[in-house]
Amino acid sequence: MSKVWNFYAGPAKLPQEALQRAQKEMLDWEGTGMSVAEISHRSKPYDALHHEAMSLVSDLLGLDEDHHVLFLQGGASLQFAMVPMNFIPPGGSADYIMTGSWSEKAIKEAKIVASAREAGSSEADGFTRIPRQDELELDSGAAYVHLTSNNTIRGTQWRDFPETGEIPLVADMSSDFLWRPFDANRFSLIYAGAQKNVGPAGVTVVIVRKSWLEKANSNLPTLLKYSTHVNKDSLYNTPPCFAIYMVRNVLAWIQASGGLTAMEKRANGKAGRLYGVIEAHPDFYGCPVAQDSRSVMNVVFRLPSEELEAKFVSEAAAQGMMGLKGHRSVGGCRASIYNAMEPEGVEVLAQFMEQFAKKNG
Ligand SMILES: *Cc1c(COP(=O)(O)O)cnc(C)c1O
Repeated sequence: MSKVWNFYAGPAKLPQEALQRAQKEMLDWEGTGMSVAEISHRSKPYDALHHEAMSLVSDLLGLDEDHHVLFLQGGASLQFAMVPMNFIPPGGSADYIMTGSWSEKAIKEAKIVASAREAGSSEADGFTRIPRQDELELDSGAAYVHLTSNNTIRGTQWRDFPETGEIPLVADMSSDFLWRPFDANRFSLIYAGAQKNVGPAGVTVVIVRKSWLEKANSNLPTLLKYSTHVNKDSLYNTPPCFAIYMVRNVLAWIQASGGLTAMEKRANGKAGRLYGVIEAHPDFYGCPVAQDSRSVMNVVFRLPSEELEAKFVSEAAAQGMMGLKGHRSVGGCRASIYNAMEPEGVEVLAQFMEQFAKKNG
């Protein structure tokens, strides 16, 4: 098979090293003569792996003692419900900053279980930018402020997270978790479905401030309470062992590659190359996203017509560049270039874009 460059938005490309490690260990993991998918989650080797994965998240981000790493199931979508269930007190309300479909889904769940309000939105601009701090109208009594750090569909991304004072900050970081160093200790809760930037589908990484749990609602089903998972180190029931194993492989790769500083440098280089091509061909390519809000994970762009976009996507696929079609809700094209995407893959795409513009412009 010829070389394939995977630009899918999620599930998405995994680092070659993480996959090769899994391939090597598949039939005999840690000398057990079994694969990691076949042994008890109460066994010693699994327990060591589980805690290694937790420590890697913690070390990469420099988490303090008050922040606990969890591995949960149900995707980011279950977090849309668990966050309000646990943290909006009876009669209380939470603030949501609206930046596209994922924040809309998040607030929708919050409104089912409690009360929630919009504290800022870029909808009037078609979600093509991130709201500015001075546009936010925070409710000082809000249980928390929720934001989506990277908008996978719209291709927008927060650079500087907003100041929320005493109000706990919660973020859905599903599509840009661990792309750069940031002060994770500022957040009361972070969640990320693994399948975009840190692993395969099946596990959601959650970071929760333990002291905040003292305020959490307790009248919830056991599995829906964060405290259950904190108290049992995400081993209350059977965790998604294989997915966590793959996350560990990805985290170990990040660490061996120079950590989050190296990821950031690589990501800025890759995104800069693609936005550079778009800007160099203003009559052919267009990026709908405001300059200061452009995502380094999901680069969205338009061509002069939908016909040319379809041609672009199919010719790219014929040359091994997969997954460049934009999300069905917005159309256009999208190159998802998460941590695992090598700069070589972006270079291949950039050159294809230049040639395509020359031939079809
Ligand atoms: C993909 C995505 C989700 C949904 O994740 P699931 O794991 O499928 O529930 C939520 N938020 C963002 C920002 C996403 O990119």
